[in-house]
Amino acid sequence: MEFELDILPLSVWLPHQEAAIIAGPCSAETEEQLVATCLQLKDLGVSALRAGIWKPRTRPGNFEGHGEIALPWVQTVKKLVDLPFAIEVATPQHIELALKYGVDILWIGARTTVNPFNVQDLADALQGVDVPVMIKNPVNPDLALWIGAIERIHKAGVRKIAAIHRGFSSLQESKYRNPPNWQIPLELKRIFPHLPLLCDPSHITGDRKMVAKVAQKALDLNYDGLMIETHITPDKAWSDAKQQVTPSELEEMIHSFNFRKQKT
Ligand code: PEP
Ligand code: MN
Repeated sequence: MEFELDILPLSVWLPHQEAAIIAGPCSAETEEQLVATCLQLKDLGVSALRAGIWKPRTRPGNFEGHGEIALPWVQTVKKLVDLPFAIEVATPQHIELALKYGVDILWIGARTTVNPFNVQDLADALQGVDVPVMIKNPVNPDLALWIGAIERIHKAGVRKIAAIHRGFSSLQESKYRNPPNWQIPLELKRIFPHLPLLCDPSHITGDRKMVAKVAQKALDLNYDGLMIETHITPDKAWSDAKQQVTPSELEEMIHSFNFRKQKT
């Protein structure tokens, strides 16, 4: 039996206009890349910035993030751009370091949500900590695991919570990198009507040409916001090159969005 969670509205911790937009590179590659990207995002009306600091990839041997070395770069950005900054955390130590360096918003990645052992470790580390936490869906199309992760973080006392829909892995041939299976996030929203729901069209599509269309579909479904990977030179990105857009492409996309749907 599900119960309604006691969750604060998104606008309390992520002020936004029609929809919250979180933008920034997949990975923090160099201080210059992070600063240049974020400076270009400064005046686009985005609500928060993002970057991956720890990036264990599906298979080893590629760039895996700089870890703590990149956290002072986040501080540099925060001095230049007055926006909250979000990073992914996967271990209690990541949480400790994120808070030490003044990161504003945490998110739990799809490969972590899938594992209740990891999620409980994060929940334990979040006890008594007032930081917003966004929870991506698990990589596999399992709504119960997603709900379980949200409940574990909620039980730790976190009230600034949002869910992020980033699509699901599938064995079927698909034009998507991670097919959206829209019925799963919509069922989550039916169960928890007050839970803010964001869409990550970058990881759903894996293809920058499809990002705007999936983002618009999420807006049409009354999602509360979007997380869109944005890179100063996407083709040269060290991770997820195909799906990242430039800040000016993001600007164009934001202007093209139809926000007319009424919030329920
Ligand atoms: C990311 O946002 O860069 C990321 C790794 O996402 P996901 O956990 O959705 O794969
Ligand atoms: Mn990515």
